[in-house]
Amino acid sequence: MTAQKNATLFFQGITSESNHRKIEIPSLYRALKVQRDHSPSLSMCKCGLTPIGNTQGAELIVSNKGARFAGMQTCGSQWCVTCQAQNKEVRKDSINRGLETAKDRGYHRYFMTLTIPRSNDAKQQIEDLQKGWKGLQDKISYRLKRQDNEMYFVRNHDVTFKISGSEIFHQHLHIIIILKNKFDSFTEFRKRSLEDMIYFLKQGYKFNDQDKLIIESWEQFLMVTWYDVQKKNNLKCSLDAQDVQKVNDDDESSDTLSKYLVKFWSLGHELACFTHKKGKTGKLINEYGSIGYMQLLGFIDKGSKKSIEIYRDFLIAVKGLRTMGKSQNWKHLAPPLELANDHDEEEVKLSIFVNPVYWHILKRPKLINGFAGYDALCIAINQIKHLPNEVLKEMLRFLHSPPNGQFAHCKTNYQRLFQFLTLFKW
Ligand SMILES: [Zn+2]
Repeated sequence: MTAQKNATLFFQGITSESNHRKIEIPSLYRALKVQRDHSPSLSMCKCGLTPIGNTQGAELIVSNKGARFAGMQTCGSQWCVTCQAQNKEVRKDSINRGLETAKDRGYHRYFMTLTIPRSNDAKQQIEDLQKGWKGLQDKISYRLKRQDNEMYFVRNHDVTFKISGSEIFHQHLHIIIILKNKFDSFTEFRKRSLEDMIYFLKQGYKFNDQDKLIIESWEQFLMVTWYDVQKKNNLKCSLDAQDVQKVNDDDESSDTLSKYLVKFWSLGHELACFTHKKGKTGKLINEYGSIGYMQLLGFIDKGSKKSIEIYRDFLIAVKGLRTMGKSQNWKHLAPPLELANDHDEEEVKLSIFVNPVYWHILKRPKLINGFAGYDALCIAINQIKHLPNEVLKEMLRFLHSPPNGQFAHCKTNYQRLFQFLTLFKW
């Protein structure tokens, strides 16, 4: 059987089948399209598309994980829909091991969410949050030094958006805090203002007979200190919007642990969110609620102009910001490991060199159905990856062969590629 025949059979199979089913474009490519069309950062727009070094063409890898181009420059942004996943496994592993070690040693484990008021100034919010976190750390280390205690932490910067309304951004911190020894309760030296006293009493805090605030636990210490730091920075602070939870070592709370970790890891980046379904209920979210980063991209995909503005404002504000951080001593809980990187588990089925001519065509923006050629090609391959390798190989060889047969009428490479992709309902 010649290559030509193989390919024809294959195309017939695909076209008759795909006439009956609607091909769904994977969320990843739709999210990537949003990023490439609207990110204010050039490196994010071009992420994964410029070959490293002087290679003129590109290498297309088809594996059990789908299709991708190898040897490309990446942006490394923690808000990039593809790059953010790269170090995720390493980070997850470090956090898990840290939590395990802490449990084994009998340390005290806590989860904390710190917030500042919602606003429409993303940049200011970051500055306030960073200032607050710095202030909190200073006060913690002063107190712990006096108690001969030690703290370990991992911190994650997260954000939610409200598309409608003026207070768009809600940036906050998720922090895992581990305390070496039990926290000693103490009574504050100074006397609180009447306003503070009323507020803390309402929140269930206790005062001694000299009207001084008693800090009974580490949770209370963190809450009160965050409150003070925010007030000092002239920001409103509601204790109801903060959260500190202790993780107990019994089985019951391992559920709490995993729930929190999911929140901690997701960064609002889970691709599943792109389709606007909420959790297991499958309920659709709307623009009036609070949405995550991926959901914002989803709204842009659906044509929301306001979301584009918000997306750009946000990315400009977080430029250069490190979203993840951990304490220096975290390595004592979880020594860094050389983990197998993600691509190692990849089972490569095919590796095809895309010659410079085709690469040049593929690089054109919005080549097919509004998608750039490279993404269109990956999408087409992802739709058909369940097909035998030999067939796939023939198909891709077809791309490189001189115009004949089915493609004979295509005068230019552009037409040929277009024809090729339309066979897959593209
Ligand atoms: Zn990237």
